[in-house]
Amino acid sequence: MKYRLDWQRNMLQQFKMVRDNPNPTAVFVTCVDSRMLPSRFTQTNVGDMFIIRNAGNMVPHSSLVSVNSVATEPAVFELACVLNNIKHIVICGHSDCKAVNMLYDIHTDPTDLPPAQFSPLRAWVTAHGNRSIGEFFRLEAAQFRKPLLLNKLNKTAKFPAYVDVDEKFSVTDKLSMINTLLQMENVTSYQFMRSHKGGRIHIHAFWFDIYTGDIHIFSRKENTFVVVNEETLPTLEEELHEIIAQTQISDDRKQGRLDLMDENTTTYQSLIQEARRNFSTSSCAQGLCDHPEHQQLRNKVI
Ligand SMILES: [Zn+2]
Repeated sequence: MKYRLDWQRNMLQQFKMVRDNPNPTAVFVTCVDSRMLPSRFTQTNVGDMFIIRNAGNMVPHSSLVSVNSVATEPAVFELACVLNNIKHIVICGHSDCKAVNMLYDIHTDPTDLPPAQFSPLRAWVTAHGNRSIGEFFRLEAAQFRKPLLLNKLNKTAKFPAYVDVDEKFSVTDKLSMINTLLQMENVTSYQFMRSHKGGRIHIHAFWFDIYTGDIHIFSRKENTFVVVNEETLPTLEEELHEIIAQTQISDDRKQGRLDLMDENTTTYQSLIQEARRNFSTSSCAQGLCDHPEHQQLRNKVI
């Protein structure tokens, strides 16, 4: 009732505004933890972003996904990035993540033995956190002075990522940061994301500190997480604008060449338009849609 009294009318206005022209900016991948309120700490609204939530904000690597073993995360990337042309993916981890703590305990606590009964959570964390714990041990052995080396999305080059070099966070929080960064690389494991014809997709990593409420953003210039505040914002914004401007130029060039050379592009674009029509429900209420089930209903009424 509180929603009905305080929010519903306001939200109806927002639904109306985005109904015919939704323009979401990002796919936000985060943990299911009840302390994480992504719409609140990103200050986003109706129509702003797609949200994927799971235990430990993990993105299954493409080698673990097949027709017989499909996962929701890449399905959402296809829906958002291929069909809706969203250009930004944000992976957001957090402090005191219970899924990450479990991953740490499985590999470090000799008394932590697999339960007699199947544990879906344990199986999920083990399967998709395997590389995170491996890289954690490698960095821990080097007192976190060595970086992770992560794949870029559209290039073979790698970029270094240092984790908590100032030793401010606990071991499990360090593992959580490593896990967050590696999920960016897992996004790049999908061929349809690497060769996206709508232009370059940008992948970002956020890390939310639930004790302070601070948001840390991974800076490719600083090669580490940087807390977002009044002081760091201008540099972080500048970095973001630079990356987007650079890739916009190469995308435009690529797109121009593709339009001339690839006759399949037109078919591809019309497929996207067709899919958009099928996903759009804005004209349904007005009786103007092409959906066969609605047309049947209309015919019956007539
Ligand atoms: Zn969590």
